[in-house]
Amino acid sequence: MLYNSTENNNEIVSAAQAIAQGISSDGGLFVPQELPSYTEDTFNSLLPMSYNERAKFIFSDFLTDFTADEIAECVDSAYTEEKFGSDCPAPLVAKKYKGNEINIMELWHGPTCAFKDMALQILPHFLTKSLKKTCEGKTAVILVATSGDTGKAALEGFKDVDNTKMIVFYPEDGVSPMQKRQMNTQKGSNVNVCAIKGNFDDAQTGVKKIFTTEEIVKLLNDNNMLFSSANSINWGRLLPQIVYYISAYCDLVNQKKISMGDKINIVVPTGNFGNILAAYYAFCMGMPVNKFICASNSNNVLTDFINTGVYDKNRHFYATASPSMDILVSSNLERLLYRFADNDDKLVSKWMNQLKTEGKYEVTDKVKEKITSKFFGGFCDDTDTKATIKKLFEDEKYLCDTHTSVAINVYDQYVEKTGDNTPVVIASTASPYKFSHSVLEAVAPNAVSDNEFAMVEQLNKITGTPVPKPIAELQNLDIRFNNVTEADSMQEYVKSTLGI
Ligand SMILES: *Cc1c(COP(=O)(O)O)cnc(C)c1O
Repeated sequence: MLYNSTENNNEIVSAAQAIAQGISSDGGLFVPQELPSYTEDTFNSLLPMSYNERAKFIFSDFLTDFTADEIAECVDSAYTEEKFGSDCPAPLVAKKYKGNEINIMELWHGPTCAFKDMALQILPHFLTKSLKKTCEGKTAVILVATSGDTGKAALEGFKDVDNTKMIVFYPEDGVSPMQKRQMNTQKGSNVNVCAIKGNFDDAQTGVKKIFTTEEIVKLLNDNNMLFSSANSINWGRLLPQIVYYISAYCDLVNQKKISMGDKINIVVPTGNFGNILAAYYAFCMGMPVNKFICASNSNNVLTDFINTGVYDKNRHFYATASPSMDILVSSNLERLLYRFADNDDKLVSKWMNQLKTEGKYEVTDKVKEKITSKFFGGFCDDTDTKATIKKLFEDEKYLCDTHTSVAINVYDQYVEKTGDNTPVVIASTASPYKFSHSVLEAVAPNAVSDNEFAMVEQLNKITGTPVPKPIAELQNLDIRFNNVTEADSMQEYVKSTLGI
């Protein structure tokens, strides 16, 4: 299988090149030139398999320049019982919300308690093997700018991985106390964490600048190193997400909730559009899906886009209770547009340029039709997010986080509007304990304090929901990093950390 850029059909690469490079040199994203086609027989053959076996089967269709042994090594090092608490890293939990059964797919049993672990636990293995195939013997230096979740998930994924080094930059006052502690206590001989004096944009701009500064790129090269990327537009982060949708479909058949061939609906709390796009790719491969429900918070740029065909990021930015979805530019949408525009690279490139220059573009009527035939867009604000957490907890004694709550609320709006009661899978993207403050505000506002660990304890006492081990342990870990640097000095920081 080969991949090409969404902004240049002639830029064609192997899977290993797509993963090692991260993004195409023309600024486009790598997409598979054709998707594998799974029949009912294929799905039947997946039914008796474990999660890891299903993952190996699916990866072998996409990573055709990897051997079966290499793929098995990647999968079995990533999804271990030790890291995910069981041999089923993405369990389905059936609950009822306002009379409708919802199958909640818990994607947060990994080491950092957010769904990003599903991809970032395996990406380092894909990446080191890809580098070996494309530039043997070099050490990959991965720089990350994070507003919280990605940084910690990337650190956990890359810690002590051979031939990689990672430096994470975060805004000194722009992450939650829990997220700061998660990063500053990080273990691993090849990782480093540094706060910067500035906001997330400053961190992001600083990282991008370092990537493209010739002097430092050359210095790395002279030292047998090269820059690589772990951000969510890397194909190596999208691919692992396809697996859990297909696996969930098989689980529903095994649980006799659906019959083979029945359609399901899929609901995803969406930010950068990576997770929901993976679900859409699973549909293109043959998984029967009726509707994709794209749930946003008050930053509802995607809701408007799905309803009007106009993408317009010129709007107020809200800091919400579901911060991992506080995004106005959903990068992975580009891959969906490329598909709906029948692989018209020139058209996609035009829209992306308009987004850069005017902050806005409008797709053609044909693309609009394709979007609305398969996608429903909705959003909910913080008040409704908290009310949904409270209701689900009161009715079912099940505690969900703020992002998952947005998805459940929007699903409820969808059912109200359409009456469609197709069996549904709702992606649950974080443990409620990652956002204890907002979750506590929802279920017991009087117990809110300014001490993160006291709130974790309160939440546990009030709801009886077990605290995930990585969060419980955090309190006792030593602070390892307390570096702070000016945004202007990030390049110097990288050089001195790498010793070059
Ligand atoms: C990153 C993230 C999302 C958004 O996922 P996308 O793939 O960017 O759409 C949703 N919820 C949580 C908890 C996240 O960390």
